[in-house]
Amino acid sequence: MAEFTLDLNDDQKAVREWIHGFAADVIRPAAAEWDEREETPWPVIQEAAKIGLYSLDFYAQQFFDPTGLGIPLTMEELFWGDAGIALSIVGTGLAAVGVIANGTEEQIGTWIPQMYGTPDDVKVAAFCSSEPDAGSDVGAMRTRAVYDEAKDEWVLDGTKTWATNGGIANVHVVVAVVDPELGSKGHASFIVPPGTPGLSQGQKFKKHGIRASHTAEVVLEDCRVPGSCLLGGKEKLDERLARARERAKSGGERLKNAAMATFEASRPAVGAMAIGTARAAYEEALEYAKTRTQFGRPIIDNQGVAFQLADMRTQIDAARLLVWRASWMGTTGKPFTSAEGSMSKLFASEVAKKVTAQAIQIFGGNGFTREYPVERMHRDAAIYTIFEGTSEIQRLVIARTLAGLPIR
Ligand SMILES: Cc1cc2nc3c(=O)[nH]c(=O)nc-3n(C[C@H](O)[C@H](O)[C@H](O)COP(=O)(O)OP(=O)(O)OC[C@H]3O[C@@H](n4cnc5c(N)ncnc54)[C@H](O)[C@@H]3O)c2cc1C
Repeated sequence: MAEFTLDLNDDQKAVREWIHGFAADVIRPAAAEWDEREETPWPVIQEAAKIGLYSLDFYAQQFFDPTGLGIPLTMEELFWGDAGIALSIVGTGLAAVGVIANGTEEQIGTWIPQMYGTPDDVKVAAFCSSEPDAGSDVGAMRTRAVYDEAKDEWVLDGTKTWATNGGIANVHVVVAVVDPELGSKGHASFIVPPGTPGLSQGQKFKKHGIRASHTAEVVLEDCRVPGSCLLGGKEKLDERLARARERAKSGGERLKNAAMATFEASRPAVGAMAIGTARAAYEEALEYAKTRTQFGRPIIDNQGVAFQLADMRTQIDAARLLVWRASWMGTTGKPFTSAEGSMSKLFASEVAKKVTAQAIQIFGGNGFTREYPVERMHRDAAIYTIFEGTSEIQRLVIARTLAGLPIR
């Protein structure tokens, strides 16, 4: 019996077509406008909410696709439409995953609906981990969470940066240090409910790309949240900290590897976003090369142009195979013995940067203007080698995994 197949099943094909339709009809036509406005495209998010494409239910369904391909298929199509708008649509998911991964059933039931709002009153959520001095080096995090036992409240103080939807979110998920002695094992995640005093938006960044996605600093000053906002609860935190202290004494290997497995499983989704942007630019370039005439013939008749397109498509397909493999491994519980999740994100994000640059070259002068979408796609593609771990960090993780060394 031949079990191996790369054929998508009927459900997957239907979902992919449905998302592609939304990306082509709603997202792509709005892309240039929201890129120029550098604002969250609320009307587009609302359209997505109305058809069920902006909801926890939809992402949960894709997440539980037993082949692992639900999320990569979704990401590729949405980001094919436009990266900035797509990030505005999926950004809330980052925070939602933070709650689902660490929260109790009650916390999930309370906060996730408030993250998405309703189709008539859509909301977004933010996941705040990065800090000015703690980007790649998560262990350098300084935002503190101190428990005020008398009031059963946690007091958050510090500055978060680069938060997608930071300051405009209804619900913020904030990662903070509860035990500085334990490095990244002494962190915990907190819900900051809507309208909590002490949380404010700092600088909103004017960015190179994905400009339809809001990115800002989040400042926490004596920001008090109820004890029930500690994700997972106090008892579980105390147990986890006690275990971490024990393991710190005896080397700490197992915990490091558990954290790594989580990243390996989430990174292919970013790879799929990169593939969406790369594919969009490749398709634009292919069409242009077939119709643009110079020296009395379409420019694709020149081997120099045609070979570029051949390489672009080959690399996109190769990237997709790496992403699908890692997603399948994550879903089916295969161990990431060679950091295959990081490999997929590294390769796909570098491909997106390269392919979008080649697309500009194929468009010539037109590619250098905002009249044509490849210029925007190239700016957007630059993010993929930076967020969710830079390319250097992916290489570091892959190399240390191959060498059998612990990941810091
Ligand atoms: C648009 C955007 C949206 C984002 N959204 C979010 C969000 O929603 N929530 C959130 O918490 N964060 C978010 N981030 C933050 C993002 O994850 C960080 O920018 C990223 O982790 C890199 O951190 P850094 O910017 O501090 O760079 P740094 O860590 O300062 O890195 C600078 C350079 O040094 C290199 N470098 C660092 N350490 C090493 C090393 N050991 N070996 C080799 N090279 C190294 C890096 O690869 C990079 O090239 C977002 C960032 C951007 C730009």
